[in-house]
Amino acid sequence: MDFEEGDRVKVEKAGVEYEGIAMPSTTGHIIIKMVSGYNAGIDPEGATVTVVQKKQDMEASTKAAGKAEVEPKKGLPKVSILSTGGTIASKIDYRTGAVTSQFSADDILQAIPELTEIANFSGKAIYNILSENMKADYWQELAKAVVEEIKNGADGIIVAHGTDTMMYSAAALSFMIDTPVPIVFVGSQRSADRPSSDNAMNAICAAKVAVSDIAEVTVVMHSESSDDKCSIHRATKVRKMHTSRRDAFRSINSEPIGYVDYSTGEISTGLSYTKRNEKELSLMASLEPKCALVKFTPGSSSDILGYFIDAGYKGIVIEGTGLGHVSTDWIPQIERATSQKIPVIVTSQCLNGRICDRVYDTGRDILKAGAIEGEDMLPEVALVKMMWTLGQIQDYDDAVDILKQDIRCEINERSLE
Ligand code: ASP
Repeated sequence: MDFEEGDRVKVEKAGVEYEGIAMPSTTGHIIIKMVSGYNAGIDPEGATVTVVQKKQDMEASTKAAGKAEVEPKKGLPKVSILSTGGTIASKIDYRTGAVTSQFSADDILQAIPELTEIANFSGKAIYNILSENMKADYWQELAKAVVEEIKNGADGIIVAHGTDTMMYSAAALSFMIDTPVPIVFVGSQRSADRPSSDNAMNAICAAKVAVSDIAEVTVVMHSESSDDKCSIHRATKVRKMHTSRRDAFRSINSEPIGYVDYSTGEISTGLSYTKRNEKELSLMASLEPKCALVKFTPGSSSDILGYFIDAGYKGIVIEGTGLGHVSTDWIPQIERATSQKIPVIVTSQCLNGRICDRVYDTGRDILKAGAIEGEDMLPEVALVKMMWTLGQIQDYDDAVDILKQDIRCEINERSLE
């Protein structure tokens, strides 16, 4: 049949019409990605295929649209979009049928023209990766790029990021940067080719926060499965809690700072927050990447902890059970770590609630072995805080002091019910 992968085609069979993009097929069936985002497989026997638009023509018109300059509007604030990749910056790869990160920050503006009513944007693609490929030195480069944009006069920053590890990157930037302007992370759970895509609404809400007076690192994503509002989560209290729902991001052990009403664009806040220009810009970008987050499971060997000590890790976060426990036979390894000046923080697999190692025997022994109670910190945040603290401070006792203190609202003094 006379079409290629990537062409927009219409397939007619037994009186039913399917329209979409021709995808690779290994079965001999015609596979098309329909507007719904779902793929249809059609037996070519008795089917007629017409090409609606050739792949090359579609690419040319997308390119031409991409070249149209967006005129800056007088009086609007300046926002920089730094794109790192992820679903929010992705499109379909016709070779594999997979979603891959290929869009630049400018493409985001072309795709969501409503953004240009909120601010004058400039865009830079820092990376074009899925966020599972992020690492500590990328966080550092990203933090430097953000600081550069603020120095160059940006009134707010949007970081377009994959959702899988967004909370790590957001927490890392939160520790690394004292910011006088909002730094907003945004992503999307469903790619732009699906009608249920959350990318436009999330990006528009993120832009509203980027021009607001919330001068903190935040994550702005759908609050509910409906399109009513987005939550403004504090970077050190947020977690991806669902693989596919649009409202996957939740504040844990905290309320969100506030919400953006999608229809009015209004922001309401419930928590106190750092306001615009309250802080002077500064960057503390050093990180110690050799830190580990270790999950304790019943019956697991204490050799696991021993491995990290012997492999030269500089800090260890344990995700313990309940109030912050590991089995008795892990405790000598904790003691070995702390006696070698490797700080150990204990957090909880429960995520919700606070560590209290003063209740049960094992907890008391963990404290005697020198472990630090992670209070109500999320395990991932404790890991990032460990990397940042050990990047800043060499002395063990000073580092332990910092690890126990609240630096970026990662520890609440009192817990919510
Ligand atoms: N795996 C993707 C990522 O985190 C998923 C997403 O973008 O939401 O980059």
